[in-house]
Amino acid sequence: MIIDLRSDTVTQPTKGMLEAMMSAKTGDDVYKEDPTVNALEARIADMFGMDTALFFPTGTMANQTALKLHTNPGDQVICDSNAHIYHYEGGGASFNSGISCKLLQGQGGTFTAQQVVEAINPPDFYHSPLTALVEIENTANRGGGTCWDFAEIKKIKTVCDQHNLGLHLDGARFWNALVAKKEDAKAYGKVFDTISVCLSKGLGCPAGTVLVGTETIMKNAIRIRKILGGGMRQTGYLAAAGLYALDHHLDRLAEDHIKAKEIEAVLTQLECVKQVQKVETNIIIFELNQNTDETHFLKTMASNHIRVSGMGNGKLRLVTHLDYTDAMHERFLEILKQLDV
Ligand SMILES: *Cc1c(COP(=O)(O)O)cnc(C)c1O
Repeated sequence: MIIDLRSDTVTQPTKGMLEAMMSAKTGDDVYKEDPTVNALEARIADMFGMDTALFFPTGTMANQTALKLHTNPGDQVICDSNAHIYHYEGGGASFNSGISCKLLQGQGGTFTAQQVVEAINPPDFYHSPLTALVEIENTANRGGGTCWDFAEIKKIKTVCDQHNLGLHLDGARFWNALVAKKEDAKAYGKVFDTISVCLSKGLGCPAGTVLVGTETIMKNAIRIRKILGGGMRQTGYLAAAGLYALDHHLDRLAEDHIKAKEIEAVLTQLECVKQVQKVETNIIIFELNQNTDETHFLKTMASNHIRVSGMGNGKLRLVTHLDYTDAMHERFLEILKQLDV
């Protein structure tokens, strides 16, 4: 039994999901003739109370499209120093949109409206890049699966309105935030101009992210997607997985969160662990004690067929997911409790 806790992207489609995919009605989505893609886009747009939704192969392409929609070359996007768009999209912000990132030193991947105000370059000061966009990540990945406080987001929205800035949400794990905080997607749809939501993380689909947004800002989204090479044909097979996941895998995210909390509780008891970042959703980031041999720790994990992610600087990451079963959970907690490193 391999216990893979590196990421929630390692899941396999379930039997029910595969059946839904196999029986999907499809068409050429480049002509917008795929009924299943159209249904998924309409459903997600409706969940957020937003005008337009567009299916993308990856979260990276959806975020990159959003950055392009909101900016012109030379502009600047304000985001947290841990942001995925800054660290993990291959430098796409500069490659695709010719923009730079102004990094905020936030708390667990979140920041305040005041920090945004201070980071905006005065538009008439032509020496500095023009601030065009604020980007928020919810949950914050490198922050340790942190959920944003909606009241702070609303304050940031006010700042964006005052300064004529766009507001984008990288919602790769937004479903986790909604379930954890029992919030309504429509409230977020009212505040953000664009939101990307991932199907291939917590929801367990093989691929896909949907970008939702207001009609005005999304007008060029399909053109940008085409330019980035994301115009696909019979994508209904993938969209069917998304529709199935919304019906069957959304509410169960709460189980992943409970398991993550239980792992946190055991880790905090271990002598070899220096600290565990507060767990709010399905991500657990922890740090080993300085006198703990990291290689030995990882070897022990490996010899028990447990896969974890190294984040550098002695930090390790675990992510619970659909394929992390109760039996795996029980075994993993036992192994942790018996650790001798
Ligand atoms: C995974 C992830 C993405 C995009 O992921 P893809 O692998 O391109 O689908 C974007 N933002 C965050 C925070 C992520 O965790």
